[in-house]
Amino acid sequence: MIPDKKRDLQCLLCQRPLRRIGEDFTGKHIYKCHDCQYVCTTISTAAETAALYDDPEYFDGWGCNLDFDYDRFEPSVHQQVDDYLDFLAAHTQGKSLLDVGTGSGLLPHIALQRGYEVEGTDLSAYVSQNVPAKGGFPVHHGTLDDIRFARKYDIITLLHVLEHTGNPLAMIGRCKELLNSGGHVVVVVPNYQSLDSRIKDLLSKFKLKQRPYKHLALGHHNWVFSIKSLELLGEKAGLQIVHRETRQPAWRAGAWHRLLGRFGLATWCWIVYRKMSDKLQLVA
Ligand SMILES: [Zn+2]
Repeated sequence: MIPDKKRDLQCLLCQRPLRRIGEDFTGKHIYKCHDCQYVCTTISTAAETAALYDDPEYFDGWGCNLDFDYDRFEPSVHQQVDDYLDFLAAHTQGKSLLDVGTGSGLLPHIALQRGYEVEGTDLSAYVSQNVPAKGGFPVHHGTLDDIRFARKYDIITLLHVLEHTGNPLAMIGRCKELLNSGGHVVVVVPNYQSLDSRIKDLLSKFKLKQRPYKHLALGHHNWVFSIKSLELLGEKAGLQIVHRETRQPAWRAGAWHRLLGRFGLATWCWIVYRKMSDKLQLVA
């Protein structure tokens, strides 16, 4: 796939022209839609993306290991997965769960113990070959468009996935197709409007940061969202927004962090979309 230069320069959500606001320390261009409140960069080709995530080393580190020996994952990783699953229990219904871009597979693995029927997807051949034996659930290899799913799901999780995609709107649309009526999509992404990101953005803008815009992680993130852009994305995809908040990672859950969350300034955006039942959609 050749990157669509035209689309790169046009807002995904409102089709207005994007404004170039600078470049990061590696020279990647940064574009912004001022109405929709997100930034993006030139989208990598599908081949580049596949190569990046197919490298087993990509899944090493971050408190995990390549043996997918879950007991040896760092406690913070387990803590985060528990936080996700508590959130799913509070904000979604149903038992069939598809974890897109499952990586280490820890979330479906623990979800299985909590009584969910789970499946995963991943772009990495290494993950799809090795995680099923360790995690106890199937992992489909490839993109959501390529995989031939035999069923639909009650819950689809996109945890730190949407910011890596070439087209988040197309991806959310595909999730909608894969959902049962009344099912939920749960999205967690970095928050472009977090206090941390705002400060680092300003420092980058005024060239006071040694590696400008490094915090946007544009080496592998194509998009940086806020609650506002995620809301627009859901509306555009024809999904109902049933919950949104900003929240710190589970291992940073002190009083100060809760305060950031209260003002929408925490590190990550969490949003829950719901696919309306067919009956309601007819009325809408
Ligand atoms: Zn826009």
